Amino acid sequence: MPLGKINNTTIKNIYDSLQLIFPDVVLMKKEQMPAIAYTAPRNRYRADTLIHWMSRRANKSQVFLGITSFDISSTKNDTPDFGIMGLGYRPGNACVASDFRVKVKSNFFKIAIHELGHTAGLKHCPEKTCFMRDAESHDPTGEEKEFCKKCKAFLTEKGWKL
Ligand SMILES: [Zn+2]
Ligand SMILES: [Zn+2]
Repeated sequence: MPLGKINNTTIKNIYDSLQLIFPDVVLMKKEQMPAIAYTAPRNRYRADTLIHWMSRRANKSQVFLGITSFDISSTKNDTPDFGIMGLGYRPGNACVASDFRVKVKSNFFKIAIHELGHTAGLKHCPEKTCFMRDAESHDPTGEEKEFCKKCKAFLTEKGWKL
């Protein structure tokens, strides 16, 4: 689900990549960001509010992925509005990814697939080249190559075409 501001090329790139892994992926029409998620001090949208908002719309067999170029945030330790690249339930039926903090925009897919990995039940992975590595408060996508053997086996078991 494209959310708020995001260009058509980005939408198409994400959709095309997802289709290889999930042949029945559906591209939804773009929606406005829900106003309840907006947080004014840093002009960001609360990622936890966004995934909760999407999860209520997903039925049992669906997982919603929201994609946006707006800045998103969540509470981290003492910072109430910490800028992040994505957030997903683990496991669950909703996640969100933002390319606002992604340096090389063609790497945005790695954020989306990481969050979908969480919805499938994966935790963070110690392999630095694995899509499931922890971002550790910076953009890790330049070092990420693919899912490691272990994560790949887990997801293949869940029906992902990797
Ligand atoms: Zn993560
Ligand atoms: Zn891994």
